[in-house]
Amino acid sequence: MSYQALYRKFRPDAFEDVKGQAHIVTTLMNQIKADRIGHAYLFCGTRGTGKTTIAKLFAKAVNCENPKEDKSPCLVCDTCKAIGAAASMNVIEIDAASNNGVDNIREIVEEVSYSPTSGKYKVYIIDEVHMLSTGAFNALLKTLEEPPGYVIFILATTEVHKIPITILSRCQRYDFKRITVDTIASRLYELMEIEGIEVEEAAIRYIAKMADGSMRDALSLLDQCIAFHFGKTLTYDLVLDVLGAIDASVYSEFVRFIANQEITKTILKLEEIVMQGKELTQFVADFTWYLRNLLLVSASEDARDTIDVSTENYERLVEESKLLKQSAIIRYIRIFAELSSQIRYSQSKRILIEMTLIKLCKPQMEVGQDSLIERIRLLEDKLEQGFVPMGQADQGKSEVKNQQLQTRQRPVTPTIQAVPQDIQEIIRKWAGVIASLDAPMKVYLKTAKLSLHQDKNLLIGLEDGPASDYFLDSEENRDKLKQHLEQSIGKEVTLHFKAFRQMDEFEQSHVDLSKLILMEIEEE
Ligand SMILES: [Zn+2]
Repeated sequence: MSYQALYRKFRPDAFEDVKGQAHIVTTLMNQIKADRIGHAYLFCGTRGTGKTTIAKLFAKAVNCENPKEDKSPCLVCDTCKAIGAAASMNVIEIDAASNNGVDNIREIVEEVSYSPTSGKYKVYIIDEVHMLSTGAFNALLKTLEEPPGYVIFILATTEVHKIPITILSRCQRYDFKRITVDTIASRLYELMEIEGIEVEEAAIRYIAKMADGSMRDALSLLDQCIAFHFGKTLTYDLVLDVLGAIDASVYSEFVRFIANQEITKTILKLEEIVMQGKELTQFVADFTWYLRNLLLVSASEDARDTIDVSTENYERLVEESKLLKQSAIIRYIRIFAELSSQIRYSQSKRILIEMTLIKLCKPQMEVGQDSLIERIRLLEDKLEQGFVPMGQADQGKSEVKNQQLQTRQRPVTPTIQAVPQDIQEIIRKWAGVIASLDAPMKVYLKTAKLSLHQDKNLLIGLEDGPASDYFLDSEENRDKLKQHLEQSIGKEVTLHFKAFRQMDEFEQSHVDLSKLILMEIEEE
Protein backbone atom coordinates (compact mmCIF):
# COMPACT_ATOMS: atom_id res chain seq x y z
CA MET A 1 0.00 0.00 0.00
CA SER A 2 1.42 3.35 -0.91
CA TYR A 3 1.53 6.08 1.62
CA GLN A 4 0.17 9.53 0.99
CA ALA A 5 1.46 12.41 3.09
CA LEU A 6 -1.01 13.40 5.78
CA TYR A 7 -0.60 17.05 4.98
CA ARG A 8 -1.88 16.53 1.44
CA LYS A 9 -4.45 13.96 2.37
CA PHE A 10 -6.10 15.96 5.12
CA ARG A 11 -6.16 19.54 3.94
CA PRO A 12 -9.37 20.87 5.48
CA ASP A 13 -12.23 21.04 2.96
CA ALA A 14 -14.77 22.49 5.33
CA PHE A 15 -14.64 25.39 7.74
CA GLU A 16 -15.31 23.09 10.67
CA ASP A 17 -12.13 21.12 9.92
CA VAL A 18 -9.88 24.13 10.32
CA LYS A 19 -8.34 23.85 13.78
CA GLY A 20 -7.23 26.52 16.16
CA GLN A 21 -8.34 29.65 14.27
CA ALA A 22 -11.99 29.76 15.27
CA HIS A 23 -12.05 33.56 15.57
CA ILE A 24 -11.04 33.98 11.94
CA VAL A 25 -13.13 31.18 10.49
CA THR A 26 -16.28 32.43 12.21
CA THR A 27 -15.79 35.98 10.96
CA LEU A 28 -15.21 34.85 7.38
CA MET A 29 -18.23 32.51 7.43
CA ASN A 30 -20.39 35.34 8.75
CA GLN A 31 -19.20 37.64 5.99
CA ILE A 32 -20.21 35.10 3.35
CA LYS A 33 -23.58 34.54 5.00
CA ALA A 34 -24.28 38.26 5.19
CA ASP A 35 -22.86 38.80 1.71
CA ARG A 36 -20.47 41.39 3.03
CA ILE A 37 -17.27 40.10 1.54
CA GLY A 38 -14.24 42.36 1.68
CA HIS A 39 -11.90 42.99 -1.22
CA ALA A 40 -8.55 42.84 0.48
CA TYR A 41 -7.57 40.58 3.33
CA LEU A 42 -4.25 40.32 5.09
CA PHE A 43 -3.55 37.02 6.83
CA CYS A 44 -0.59 37.28 9.22
CA GLY A 45 0.96 34.66 11.42
CA THR A 46 3.77 32.15 11.78
CA ARG A 47 4.19 29.33 9.31
CA GLY A 48 1.85 26.41 9.30
CA THR A 49 -0.98 28.11 11.14
CA GLY A 50 -3.46 27.75 8.28
CA LYS A 51 -3.20 30.99 6.29
CA THR A 52 -3.16 29.51 2.79
CA THR A 53 -5.49 26.70 3.80
CA ILE A 54 -8.13 29.17 4.89
CA ALA A 55 -7.44 31.41 1.87
CA LYS A 56 -8.14 28.51 -0.52
CA LEU A 57 -11.16 27.38 1.41
CA PHE A 58 -12.50 30.92 1.32
CA ALA A 59 -11.84 31.15 -2.45
CA LYS A 60 -13.87 27.98 -2.97
CA ALA A 61 -16.61 29.05 -0.61
CA VAL A 62 -17.27 32.39 -2.31
CA ASN A 63 -17.45 30.72 -5.74
CA CYS A 64 -19.26 27.48 -4.91
CA GLU A 65 -22.52 26.92 -6.78
CA ASN A 66 -24.21 25.00 -3.95
CA PRO A 67 -22.56 25.99 -0.68
CA LYS A 68 -23.45 24.07 2.46
CA GLU A 69 -25.43 25.57 5.29
CA ASP A 70 -22.35 26.83 7.12
CA LYS A 71 -21.18 28.26 3.76
CA SER A 72 -18.48 25.64 3.39
CA PRO A 73 -17.95 24.73 -0.28
CA CYS A 74 -19.85 21.68 -1.59
CA LEU A 75 -16.71 20.22 -3.24
CA VAL A 76 -18.80 18.54 -5.97
CA CYS A 77 -19.89 21.39 -8.23
CA ASP A 78 -17.76 22.21 -11.27
CA THR A 79 -16.32 25.34 -9.70
CA CYS A 80 -15.28 23.54 -6.52
CA LYS A 81 -13.71 20.76 -8.56
CA ALA A 82 -11.81 23.15 -10.81
CA ILE A 83 -10.43 25.10 -7.84
CA GLY A 84 -9.59 21.87 -6.04
CA ALA A 85 -7.58 20.74 -9.07
CA ALA A 86 -5.88 24.15 -9.31
CA ALA A 87 -7.44 24.45 -12.78
CA SER A 88 -9.71 27.39 -12.15
CA MET A 89 -9.11 30.72 -13.86
CA ASN A 90 -10.77 32.37 -10.89
CA VAL A 91 -8.29 31.49 -8.21
CA ILE A 92 -4.80 32.71 -8.82
CA GLU A 93 -2.04 31.82 -6.42
CA ILE A 94 1.18 33.80 -6.48
CA ASP A 95 4.26 33.08 -4.44
CA ALA A 96 5.80 36.49 -3.85
CA ALA A 97 9.04 34.89 -2.74
CA SER A 98 9.81 33.98 -6.36
CA ASN A 99 7.62 36.55 -8.19
CA ASN A 100 8.46 39.71 -6.37
CA GLY A 101 9.12 42.14 -9.21
CA VAL A 102 7.02 44.99 -10.44
CA ASP A 103 6.34 43.15 -13.72
CA ASN A 104 4.78 40.21 -11.94
CA ILE A 105 2.33 42.51 -10.21
CA ARG A 106 1.63 44.51 -13.38
CA GLU A 107 0.50 41.29 -15.05
CA ILE A 108 -1.97 40.76 -12.25
CA VAL A 109 -3.18 44.32 -12.41
CA GLU A 110 -3.94 43.94 -16.11
CA GLU A 111 -5.76 40.66 -15.60
CA VAL A 112 -7.85 42.14 -12.83
CA SER A 113 -9.79 44.17 -15.33
CA TYR A 114 -11.33 41.05 -16.94
CA SER A 115 -14.34 39.76 -15.08
CA PRO A 116 -14.42 36.08 -14.06
CA THR A 117 -15.24 33.54 -16.77
CA SER A 118 -17.39 31.53 -14.40
CA GLY A 119 -18.32 31.90 -10.76
CA LYS A 120 -18.67 35.17 -8.91
CA TYR A 121 -15.22 36.14 -7.76
CA LYS A 122 -11.64 36.23 -8.92
CA VAL A 123 -9.48 35.50 -5.90
CA TYR A 124 -5.80 36.42 -5.84
CA ILE A 125 -3.82 34.73 -3.12
CA ILE A 126 -0.40 36.29 -2.71
CA ASP A 127 1.76 34.25 -0.37
CA GLU A 128 4.78 35.69 1.45
CA VAL A 129 3.63 39.11 0.31
CA HIS A 130 6.30 40.88 2.39
CA MET A 131 8.84 39.75 -0.23
CA LEU A 132 7.47 42.11 -2.89
CA SER A 133 9.77 44.88 -4.07
CA THR A 134 8.84 48.49 -3.39
CA GLY A 135 7.83 48.94 -7.02
CA ALA A 136 5.64 45.87 -6.86
CA PHE A 137 3.95 47.11 -3.69
CA ASN A 138 3.21 50.40 -5.41
CA ALA A 139 1.71 48.66 -8.41
CA LEU A 140 -0.40 46.51 -6.11
CA LEU A 141 -1.51 49.51 -4.12
CA LYS A 142 -3.21 51.10 -7.12
CA THR A 143 -5.36 48.03 -7.62
CA LEU A 144 -6.15 47.77 -3.93
CA GLU A 145 -7.41 51.35 -3.94
CA GLU A 146 -10.18 50.68 -6.42
CA PRO A 147 -10.62 47.01 -7.11
CA PRO A 148 -13.49 45.83 -9.32
CA GLY A 149 -16.33 44.32 -7.30
CA TYR A 150 -15.53 40.78 -8.40
CA VAL A 151 -11.93 40.79 -7.15
CA ILE A 152 -10.72 39.56 -3.77
CA PHE A 153 -7.11 39.86 -2.71
CA ILE A 154 -5.83 37.65 0.06
CA LEU A 155 -2.33 38.61 1.11
CA ALA A 156 -0.52 36.19 3.40
CA THR A 157 2.62 36.93 5.34
CA THR A 158 4.76 35.68 8.17
CA GLU A 159 6.36 39.09 8.60
CA VAL A 160 3.69 41.71 8.85
CA HIS A 161 6.11 44.44 9.98
CA LYS A 162 7.59 44.46 6.47
CA ILE A 163 4.29 45.42 4.83
CA PRO A 164 3.99 49.12 3.94
CA ILE A 165 1.42 50.99 5.98
CA THR A 166 -0.35 52.07 2.78
CA ILE A 167 -1.12 48.42 2.03
CA LEU A 168 -2.00 47.58 5.63
CA SER A 169 -4.55 50.37 5.78
CA ARG A 170 -6.45 48.94 2.82
CA CYS A 171 -6.76 45.40 4.11
CA GLN A 172 -8.86 43.63 6.68
CA ARG A 173 -6.23 42.16 8.92
CA TYR A 174 -6.48 38.71 10.52
CA ASP A 175 -3.86 37.49 12.96
CA PHE A 176 -3.39 33.74 12.93
CA LYS A 177 -2.49 32.39 16.33
CA ARG A 178 -0.04 29.63 17.02
CA ILE A 179 -2.11 26.52 17.51
CA THR A 180 -2.06 25.04 21.01
CA VAL A 181 -0.48 21.69 21.79
CA ASP A 182 -3.88 20.34 22.82
CA THR A 183 -5.53 21.35 19.56
CA ILE A 184 -2.73 19.91 17.47
CA ALA A 185 -2.63 16.71 19.49
CA SER A 186 -6.35 16.12 19.19
CA ARG A 187 -6.24 16.70 15.43
CA LEU A 188 -3.35 14.24 15.08
CA TYR A 189 -5.31 11.69 17.08
CA GLU A 190 -8.32 12.16 14.89
CA LEU A 191 -6.25 11.54 11.75
CA MET A 192 -4.50 8.51 13.22
CA GLU A 193 -7.87 7.02 14.02
CA ILE A 194 -9.03 7.56 10.44
CA GLU A 195 -5.80 6.06 9.15
CA GLY A 196 -6.06 3.12 11.55
CA ILE A 197 -2.59 3.68 12.95
CA GLU A 198 -1.98 2.91 16.59
CA VAL A 199 -0.18 5.59 18.54
CA GLU A 200 0.93 6.26 22.09
CA GLU A 201 -0.38 9.39 23.72
CA ALA A 202 3.12 10.49 24.72
CA ALA A 203 4.25 10.12 21.10
CA ILE A 204 1.50 12.37 19.78
CA ARG A 205 2.00 14.96 22.49
CA TYR A 206 5.72 15.10 21.84
CA ILE A 207 5.14 15.75 18.15
CA ALA A 208 2.52 18.38 18.94
CA LYS A 209 4.94 20.15 21.25
CA MET A 210 7.81 19.99 18.76
CA ALA A 211 5.63 21.60 16.09
CA ASP A 212 5.61 24.84 18.08
CA GLY A 213 2.16 25.99 17.07
CA SER A 214 2.32 24.90 13.45
CA MET A 215 -0.18 22.28 12.28
CA ARG A 216 1.76 21.80 9.07
CA ASP A 217 4.98 21.05 10.94
CA ALA A 218 3.10 18.68 13.23
CA LEU A 219 1.71 16.75 10.27
CA SER A 220 5.03 16.57 8.51
CA LEU A 221 6.79 15.38 11.67
CA LEU A 222 4.10 12.77 12.12
CA ASP A 223 4.55 11.78 8.49
CA GLN A 224 8.25 11.25 8.99
CA CYS A 225 7.66 9.06 12.02
CA ILE A 226 5.02 6.95 10.33
CA ALA A 227 7.01 6.57 7.12
CA PHE A 228 9.96 5.35 9.13
CA HIS A 229 8.03 2.74 11.03
CA PHE A 230 5.19 2.01 8.69
CA GLY A 231 2.80 -0.62 9.98
CA LYS A 232 4.05 -0.45 13.56
CA THR A 233 2.52 1.14 16.63
CA LEU A 234 3.94 4.62 16.91
CA THR A 235 5.54 4.76 20.34
CA TYR A 236 7.19 7.61 22.20
CA ASP A 237 10.57 5.94 21.82
CA LEU A 238 10.18 5.58 18.07
CA VAL A 239 9.30 9.24 17.77
CA LEU A 240 12.35 10.29 19.78
CA ASP A 241 14.43 8.01 17.61
CA VAL A 242 13.17 9.33 14.29
CA LEU A 243 13.31 12.97 15.31
CA GLY A 244 16.78 12.61 16.84
CA ALA A 245 15.39 13.77 20.15
CA ILE A 246 16.29 12.71 23.64
CA ASP A 247 14.17 11.22 26.39
CA ALA A 248 13.37 13.55 29.29
CA SER A 249 15.09 11.22 31.75
CA VAL A 250 18.42 12.18 30.15
CA TYR A 251 17.84 15.85 31.00
CA SER A 252 17.05 14.78 34.50
CA GLU A 253 20.46 13.05 34.70
CA PHE A 254 22.15 16.19 33.44
CA VAL A 255 20.46 18.32 36.04
CA ARG A 256 21.58 15.98 38.81
CA PHE A 257 25.16 15.86 37.57
CA ILE A 258 25.27 19.63 37.31
CA ALA A 259 23.74 20.07 40.76
CA ASN A 260 26.53 17.83 42.13
CA GLN A 261 29.14 19.68 40.06
CA GLU A 262 30.17 16.45 38.36
CA ILE A 263 31.88 17.79 35.27
CA THR A 264 33.26 14.49 34.05
CA LYS A 265 29.88 12.81 34.14
CA THR A 266 28.14 15.63 32.32
CA ILE A 267 30.76 15.64 29.58
CA LEU A 268 30.66 11.86 29.19
CA LYS A 269 26.88 11.97 29.02
CA LEU A 270 27.09 14.56 26.29
CA GLU A 271 29.54 12.38 24.43
CA GLU A 272 26.99 9.55 24.60
CA ILE A 273 24.41 11.83 23.01
CA VAL A 274 26.82 12.91 20.30
CA MET A 275 27.67 9.28 19.58
CA GLN A 276 23.99 8.43 19.22
CA GLY A 277 23.85 11.06 16.50
CA LYS A 278 21.29 13.21 18.26
CA GLU A 279 20.50 16.65 16.96
CA LEU A 280 22.39 19.05 19.24
CA THR A 281 20.39 22.18 18.49
CA GLN A 282 17.29 20.27 19.49
CA PHE A 283 19.08 19.05 22.60
CA VAL A 284 19.72 22.63 23.68
CA ALA A 285 16.15 23.70 22.97
CA ASP A 286 14.68 20.72 24.81
CA PHE A 287 17.03 21.08 27.75
CA THR A 288 16.13 24.76 28.09
CA TRP A 289 12.48 23.73 28.12
CA TYR A 290 13.22 21.11 30.76
CA LEU A 291 14.86 23.77 32.94
CA ARG A 292 11.87 26.02 32.42
CA ASN A 293 9.62 23.25 33.71
CA LEU A 294 11.97 22.73 36.64
CA LEU A 295 11.73 26.40 37.50
CA LEU A 296 7.94 26.30 37.38
CA VAL A 297 7.86 23.29 39.68
CA SER A 298 10.31 24.95 42.01
CA ALA A 299 8.45 28.26 42.07
CA SER A 300 4.93 27.02 42.57
CA GLU A 301 3.28 24.39 44.71
CA ASP A 302 0.82 23.24 42.10
CA ALA A 303 2.59 23.45 38.78
CA ARG A 304 1.16 20.10 37.70
CA ASP A 305 -1.39 21.63 35.33
CA THR A 306 0.91 24.19 33.79
CA ILE A 307 3.52 21.76 32.57
CA ASP A 308 2.93 19.07 30.05
CA VAL A 309 4.87 16.01 31.20
CA SER A 310 4.08 12.49 32.34
CA THR A 311 3.50 11.79 36.03
CA GLU A 312 6.83 9.99 36.21
CA ASN A 313 8.69 12.97 34.79
CA TYR A 314 6.79 15.33 37.02
CA GLU A 315 7.90 13.44 40.10
CA ARG A 316 11.48 13.63 38.92
CA LEU A 317 11.15 17.39 38.49
CA VAL A 318 9.80 17.73 42.01
CA GLU A 319 12.79 15.81 43.37
CA GLU A 320 15.23 17.91 41.40
CA SER A 321 13.60 21.16 42.41
CA LYS A 322 14.66 20.27 45.95
CA LEU A 323 18.29 19.82 44.92
CA LEU A 324 18.61 23.29 43.47
CA LYS A 325 17.93 26.83 44.54
CA GLN A 326 15.65 28.89 42.31
CA SER A 327 18.43 31.37 41.70
CA ALA A 328 20.58 28.52 40.39
CA ILE A 329 17.87 27.33 38.00
CA ILE A 330 17.37 30.86 36.72
CA ARG A 331 21.12 31.07 36.16
CA TYR A 332 21.05 27.80 34.20
CA ILE A 333 18.20 29.04 32.02
CA ARG A 334 19.98 32.32 31.36
CA ILE A 335 23.16 30.55 30.31
CA PHE A 336 21.31 28.02 28.19
CA ALA A 337 19.21 30.68 26.49
CA GLU A 338 22.43 32.44 25.50
CA LEU A 339 23.68 29.15 24.15
CA SER A 340 20.62 28.50 22.02
CA SER A 341 21.04 31.81 20.22
CA GLN A 342 24.69 31.01 19.45
CA ILE A 343 24.41 27.38 18.56
CA ARG A 344 22.12 27.36 15.57
CA TYR A 345 24.73 28.43 13.07
CA SER A 346 27.80 27.27 14.89
CA GLN A 347 30.19 24.75 13.38
CA SER A 348 31.32 23.54 16.77
CA LYS A 349 28.09 22.87 18.56
CA ARG A 350 29.53 20.20 20.80
CA ILE A 351 32.28 22.40 22.16
CA LEU A 352 29.85 25.23 22.83
CA ILE A 353 27.63 22.88 24.78
CA GLU A 354 30.59 21.49 26.71
CA MET A 355 31.67 24.97 27.67
CA THR A 356 28.18 25.75 28.84
CA LEU A 357 27.87 22.60 30.90
CA ILE A 358 31.19 23.32 32.60
CA LYS A 359 30.07 26.86 33.31
CA LEU A 360 26.92 25.49 34.94
CA CYS A 361 28.88 23.04 37.07
CA LYS A 362 31.35 25.68 38.17
CA PRO A 363 29.70 28.91 39.26
CA GLN A 364 33.16 30.07 40.30
CA MET A 365 34.18 30.22 36.66
CA GLU A 366 32.16 33.35 36.34
CA VAL A 367 34.28 36.32 37.42
CA GLY A 368 33.59 38.28 40.59
CA GLN A 369 35.05 38.63 44.06
CA ASP A 370 32.62 36.16 45.62
CA SER A 371 33.67 33.52 43.20
CA LEU A 372 37.37 34.05 43.95
CA ILE A 373 36.78 33.68 47.66
CA GLU A 374 34.74 30.58 47.00
CA ARG A 375 37.52 29.10 44.90
CA ILE A 376 40.14 29.73 47.56
CA ARG A 377 37.93 28.14 50.19
CA LEU A 378 37.42 25.04 48.05
CA LEU A 379 41.16 24.74 47.46
CA GLU A 380 41.93 25.08 51.15
CA ASP A 381 39.44 22.36 51.98
CA LYS A 382 40.96 20.01 49.50
CA LEU A 383 44.52 20.73 50.63
CA GLU A 384 43.51 19.89 54.17
CA GLN A 385 42.25 16.55 53.01
CA GLY A 386 45.60 15.91 51.42
CA PHE A 387 44.88 15.90 47.73
CA VAL A 388 44.35 18.29 44.91
CA PRO A 389 42.95 17.11 41.62
CA MET A 390 45.54 18.20 39.10
CA GLY A 391 44.55 20.88 36.63
CA GLN A 392 41.47 21.81 38.63
CA ALA A 393 42.21 25.52 38.47
CA ASP A 394 42.42 25.67 34.70
CA GLN A 395 39.94 22.89 34.16
CA GLY A 396 37.60 25.09 32.18
CA LYS A 397 40.16 25.89 29.54
CA SER A 398 41.62 22.45 29.20
CA GLU A 399 38.25 20.79 29.00
CA VAL A 400 37.14 23.02 26.22
CA LYS A 401 40.27 22.35 24.25
CA ASN A 402 40.37 18.69 24.96
CA GLN A 403 37.25 16.62 24.78
CA GLN A 404 39.09 13.71 26.34
CA LEU A 405 39.26 15.67 29.54
CA GLN A 406 39.12 12.69 31.84
CA THR A 407 42.77 11.95 31.12
CA ARG A 408 43.71 15.29 32.61
CA GLN A 409 41.87 15.05 35.86
CA ARG A 410 44.22 12.76 37.68
CA PRO A 411 44.37 12.95 41.46
CA VAL A 412 47.95 13.27 42.71
CA THR A 413 47.54 11.39 45.99
CA PRO A 414 47.05 8.74 47.06
CA THR A 415 48.79 6.81 44.36
CA ILE A 416 47.18 3.84 42.83
CA GLN A 417 49.84 1.58 44.32
CA ALA A 418 48.44 2.33 47.77
CA VAL A 419 45.18 0.63 46.85
CA PRO A 420 45.12 -3.14 47.50
CA GLN A 421 45.09 -5.25 44.35
CA ASP A 422 41.77 -6.94 45.22
CA ILE A 423 40.05 -3.62 45.54
CA GLN A 424 41.55 -2.34 42.31
CA GLU A 425 40.15 -5.39 40.62
CA ILE A 426 36.69 -4.85 42.06
CA ILE A 427 36.69 -1.27 40.88
CA ARG A 428 37.62 -2.25 37.35
CA LYS A 429 34.81 -4.78 37.33
CA TRP A 430 32.33 -2.62 39.25
CA ALA A 431 30.28 -1.44 36.29
CA GLY A 432 29.95 -5.00 35.00
CA VAL A 433 28.99 -6.35 38.41
CA ILE A 434 26.27 -3.74 38.83
CA ALA A 435 24.95 -4.47 35.38
CA SER A 436 24.60 -8.16 36.25
CA LEU A 437 22.62 -7.49 39.43
CA ASP A 438 18.85 -7.47 39.68
CA ALA A 439 16.73 -4.47 40.51
CA PRO A 440 16.44 -2.84 42.98
CA MET A 441 20.01 -3.49 44.11
CA LYS A 442 21.27 -2.46 40.71
CA VAL A 443 19.42 0.83 40.92
CA TYR A 444 20.61 1.65 44.40
CA LEU A 445 24.21 1.09 43.44
CA LYS A 446 24.09 3.28 40.37
CA THR A 447 25.05 6.41 42.26
CA ALA A 448 27.26 4.63 44.78
CA LYS A 449 30.86 5.72 45.08
CA LEU A 450 33.84 3.66 46.10
CA SER A 451 36.67 4.48 48.41
CA LEU A 452 38.97 2.86 50.98
CA HIS A 453 38.05 2.06 54.57
CA GLN A 454 41.02 1.80 56.94
CA ASP A 455 43.31 1.56 53.93
CA LYS A 456 42.44 -2.06 53.20
CA ASN A 457 38.71 -2.57 52.89
CA LEU A 458 36.27 -1.37 50.27
CA LEU A 459 34.06 1.49 51.34
CA ILE A 460 30.77 1.83 49.47
CA GLY A 461 29.34 5.33 49.74
CA LEU A 462 25.56 5.40 49.30
CA GLU A 463 23.10 8.17 48.84
CA ASP A 464 21.22 8.74 52.08
CA GLY A 465 17.66 7.50 51.66
CA PRO A 466 16.30 4.39 50.00
CA ALA A 467 19.74 3.40 48.72
CA SER A 468 21.47 3.54 52.08
CA ASP A 469 18.49 1.99 53.89
CA TYR A 470 18.52 -0.90 51.49
CA PHE A 471 21.98 -1.99 52.59
CA LEU A 472 22.38 -0.60 56.10
CA ASP A 473 19.09 -2.13 57.29
CA SER A 474 19.56 -5.55 55.79
CA GLU A 475 22.39 -7.98 56.38
CA GLU A 476 20.94 -10.18 53.69
CA ASN A 477 21.34 -7.48 51.07
CA ARG A 478 24.86 -6.69 52.22
CA ASP A 479 25.78 -10.38 52.00
CA LYS A 480 24.26 -10.70 48.57
CA LEU A 481 26.45 -7.93 47.22
CA LYS A 482 29.49 -9.34 49.03
CA GLN A 483 28.96 -12.74 47.43
CA HIS A 484 28.57 -11.18 44.04
CA LEU A 485 31.80 -9.26 44.34
CA GLU A 486 33.66 -12.26 45.68
CA GLN A 487 32.49 -14.31 42.76
CA SER A 488 33.65 -11.72 40.30
CA ILE A 489 37.22 -11.58 41.63
CA GLY A 490 37.43 -15.04 43.17
CA LYS A 491 38.60 -13.75 46.55
CA GLU A 492 37.12 -12.82 49.87
CA VAL A 493 36.31 -9.15 50.47
CA THR A 494 35.30 -7.07 53.44
CA LEU A 495 32.78 -4.34 52.71
CA HIS A 496 32.05 -1.20 54.61
CA PHE A 497 28.88 0.77 53.90
CA LYS A 498 28.36 4.43 54.62
CA ALA A 499 25.54 6.87 53.88
CA PHE A 500 26.12 10.40 52.57
CA ARG A 501 23.48 13.05 52.60
CA GLN A 502 24.94 14.61 49.45
CA MET A 503 27.26 12.77 47.19
CA ASP A 504 29.58 15.76 46.97
CA GLU A 505 30.07 15.38 50.73
CA PHE A 506 31.68 12.08 49.77
CA GLU A 507 34.01 13.81 47.34
CA GLN A 508 35.12 16.23 50.01
CA SER A 509 36.08 13.60 52.53
CA HIS A 510 37.02 10.58 50.44
CA VAL A 511 39.07 9.73 47.41
CA ASP A 512 36.85 8.49 44.63
CA LEU A 513 38.62 5.29 43.71
CA SER A 514 36.76 4.69 40.48
CA LYS A 515 37.99 8.03 39.20
CA LEU A 516 41.52 7.28 40.31
CA ILE A 517 41.71 3.81 38.89
CA LEU A 518 39.61 4.10 35.78
CA MET A 519 41.52 7.21 34.77
CA GLU A 520 44.75 5.33 35.16
CA ILE A 521 43.44 2.86 32.60
CA GLU A 522 42.59 5.63 30.16
CA GLU A 523 46.10 6.95 30.59
CA GLU A 524 47.75 3.65 29.72
ZN1 LIG B 1 -19.25 23.79 -4.85
